[in-house]
Amino acid sequence: MEVNWNQIDDKWRNKWHEAKDFETDPNDKPKKFITVAYPYPNSPQHIGHGRTYTLADVHSRYYRMRGYNVLFPMGFHYTGTPILGMSKRVQANDEELIEAFKNLYNVPEEKIKEFVDPVKIADYFHEEIKAGMIEMGYSIDWRREFTTIIPAYQKFIEWQFRNLKEKNLIVQGNHPVGWCPNDQNPVSQHDTLGDVEPDFTEYIVIKFNIGDEIIPVATLRPETLFGVTNLWINPKIVYKRVKVDKETWIISAECAYKLEFLNKKIEIIEDVPGSELIGKKVHSPTNENEFLILPASFVTATTGTGIVMSVPAHAPYDFQALEDIRNGNQKNIEDSLQTEVGKIQPIAIITTEGFEDIPAQNVIKKMGITNQDDPKLEDATKEIYSKEFYEGKLNSNTGEFAGKKIAFVKEEVKEWISKTGKSDIMLELTNESVKCRCGTECVVKLLNNQWFLDYANKEWKAKAHECFESMNILPNDIRTEFFNVLDWLRERACARQHGLGTKIPWDNDWLVESLADSVIYMSFYTMAKFVNSGEILADNMSDEFFNYIFYGSGNSDTVAENAKITTDKLEEIRKEFLYFYPVDSRHSGRDLVPNHLTFFVLNHVVLFPKEHWPKEIVVNGSVMMDGKKMSKSMGNIIPLRDAIKKYGADPIRLAILISAELLQDADFNSESISGIKNKLESMYDDCAKFNNSEKIGNNPEDIWIQSRLSKLILEVTESMEKMRLRESLHHILYGFDSELQWYMKRANAKNRNDISGVLNKILSTRVSMLSPFAPHIAEEMWERLGNSEMVSKSSWPKQEEQTDDAAVQNESLLSSVMNDISNIIKVTKITPKTITIYTADNWKSKAYHKILIGVNSGETNIGIFIKELISQKETENVKKDPDFVKKILKDILSEPTELRKTKMNAGAIDENILISNELSSLIEADYGIKLQVFSENDSEKYDPKNKARMARPYKPAILIE
Ligand SMILES: [Zn+2]
Repeated sequence: MEVNWNQIDDKWRNKWHEAKDFETDPNDKPKKFITVAYPYPNSPQHIGHGRTYTLADVHSRYYRMRGYNVLFPMGFHYTGTPILGMSKRVQANDEELIEAFKNLYNVPEEKIKEFVDPVKIADYFHEEIKAGMIEMGYSIDWRREFTTIIPAYQKFIEWQFRNLKEKNLIVQGNHPVGWCPNDQNPVSQHDTLGDVEPDFTEYIVIKFNIGDEIIPVATLRPETLFGVTNLWINPKIVYKRVKVDKETWIISAECAYKLEFLNKKIEIIEDVPGSELIGKKVHSPTNENEFLILPASFVTATTGTGIVMSVPAHAPYDFQALEDIRNGNQKNIEDSLQTEVGKIQPIAIITTEGFEDIPAQNVIKKMGITNQDDPKLEDATKEIYSKEFYEGKLNSNTGEFAGKKIAFVKEEVKEWISKTGKSDIMLELTNESVKCRCGTECVVKLLNNQWFLDYANKEWKAKAHECFESMNILPNDIRTEFFNVLDWLRERACARQHGLGTKIPWDNDWLVESLADSVIYMSFYTMAKFVNSGEILADNMSDEFFNYIFYGSGNSDTVAENAKITTDKLEEIRKEFLYFYPVDSRHSGRDLVPNHLTFFVLNHVVLFPKEHWPKEIVVNGSVMMDGKKMSKSMGNIIPLRDAIKKYGADPIRLAILISAELLQDADFNSESISGIKNKLESMYDDCAKFNNSEKIGNNPEDIWIQSRLSKLILEVTESMEKMRLRESLHHILYGFDSELQWYMKRANAKNRNDISGVLNKILSTRVSMLSPFAPHIAEEMWERLGNSEMVSKSSWPKQEEQTDDAAVQNESLLSSVMNDISNIIKVTKITPKTITIYTADNWKSKAYHKILIGVNSGETNIGIFIKELISQKETENVKKDPDFVKKILKDILSEPTELRKTKMNAGAIDENILISNELSSLIEADYGIKLQVFSENDSEKYDPKNKARMARPYKPAILIE
């Protein structure tokens, strides 16, 4: 039957709403506090956003069914510059943005006009996102909703900041930051196009010179100074003669631009074409050596100074560029210069096992590189760099550094050159190109007297490390990523000049940055309820108030009086915090691992006592659309609310979850949606068929299928606990199909009409396990199955105390015999008139179980088994058929261990009785003929082909005529 998804969505959403089902207050039950990174409302949600929230919702609904009092709240993050930037673009009548609002996001025109006010943008999308979350069926307690610009939240952030400052974790200093020159503001991940976190690398600038003029080169490997043979410039670049503080440098224009942000005083004097520098000689900064400046095309103006020192023994580019000149591939080189180049010999300064004398030459040959524009040079460089870094040692021609390992010598060499005054530091963005959301290329800026969170602080890191170690991280492989982030983390600017948010309490020219005011807000949910109801006013929320709620410090009567609330109310707010804290699970996308999630832990470990540190982090990958990345430019972004109208909430939820486990990218496509719809619709149809009042039968197949159902519950529960939701869904939707098929075959063969009760039980179990995933349709199915309570309020199905291994073993024997019969018929192509089955002699079964027990305790030696079996009376017949032991051992060893255990628990089966009683109906139903069953040792048996002796336990012999 076609299901009207939107109608069902509405019906159940309204019922949940009326029953206030997801409004969670403290009670006697154990709690779970599940949070997910709140959205930044600068555009509507699309299907990709749906993944993290859906995961958290499934998690919440699952725990509710497991008997927990679950709080799942939501807030909205208004803080930051992007919304401000958007409103500026609206003010400037930016066509592209206004078009996107109109056509992509369907914003009414009158609304767009209001968007000159950034708060109006945030408010609009806030409501849009919230409506989408409600339509998706998220079980959120909306009484606790807030935005990050409400006065109470600002009071809370002020408390956080003053607290961090008192602990000396917010420091004023000069540190590098990613920077947008246009906005004059630091940039972090949330401010850049494509959400790139700006990261930077420190180059050592080494100052060669021609007379009074400096020819600087920037390098990551200062130790290679000992192997320099020449410098490289690109003749196509027009360099600049620049006054840098008090010196005159020759550098690229790009370099001059970047140096300005690194606190250098820059004054451009004139152009210097690269070609003019060719053939000039520079002096080494550390000795009397002189080096030629030579042309090379691989040199770029955008990296470092635009001038490169040449270390041909260890740098493949340098080696190849020299080769290119020698081979006459460089034009504009005078003959006299060509002769001098011919004299240049690579100077090997590092020995690394596995490389010959001149490693660069070595690798170039190996990779078949023939000119400096070959992209393989990049790989060659990486190979040498990493091998030399970890395994290389400096040669005797490196003075005081001889014999030292490269990995440890970089800092020493840096210091040594620095003492000569002939070096400097230059910071560059590591990421190829980072653009601010305003479109401007970002740079590294050395910010003076700025406010920084001291994430470089070792004690702080150690504490966070301890928390990460003790917490549950799903999937667990991502734990090391957090440790790496902690290792690399340094001071981080926490103030911005523009944007929405909270002012730095002691320096009102600055605003708290958006990745700093979003790290402990989970604790604010516990009091947001009281703020929203007006029971506590922002004006009355002081540090003293927060210290009481979070730490219990101060005198409650005084604190209450100052907060203008009763002592009882104060205690209630404190109890609410104590009940729900700590956060039991924090959900977020993988892109927030290196920033938000790490900062979330860092801030918790210093602002809260250990018992309030977060317990779990769950990280998920992104969503692809038809196998492609979703992006505005691809035009494949589907706003979530449009998709809900088109497909219904539940099919979307399942389509997002069923294609991937946590960290993998999920793929959303219409094919999987229609597959899911079909499956749900057929389950929905079945719900009307099976009556729940009928008693469940006691036939072997009834006992068997309930054992299987118990196993299904166990499997789904185990996957749910690990948040392996794809696996859970597969089990629930498809994992029971073959069991049901077998059950129906058995029941139909016996013409049973009393199976509705057991089928109802099976379906109810599956529907109830489905309900966290597809909550709306599951409620509808549950109602159809004859339940009056809502499934969202029911308990998660329990596994039966004991699964009946004998029943499992019996059915598996029956189905394998049926398979064997059908295979024989297929191969021999005969139309069967009679089927005869011979079950193995009793002693064989005894011998089988002895071997089984032996194998389970690790014995596999045939000789030992034979000896043992012959020595006992009940199995001495083995000596008549020693080959039997070999076959049985093979049978057993080819089975999975789990199956062996089931067989052990089930014990020996009376196959003769089982097959006589249960298989006849199946044979009659499938082939319309009678079945004869004999025991191997039956002297009266009909055995014209002498087949009976072939019978083995679990493998009866079969004769088809
Ligand atoms: Zn910008």
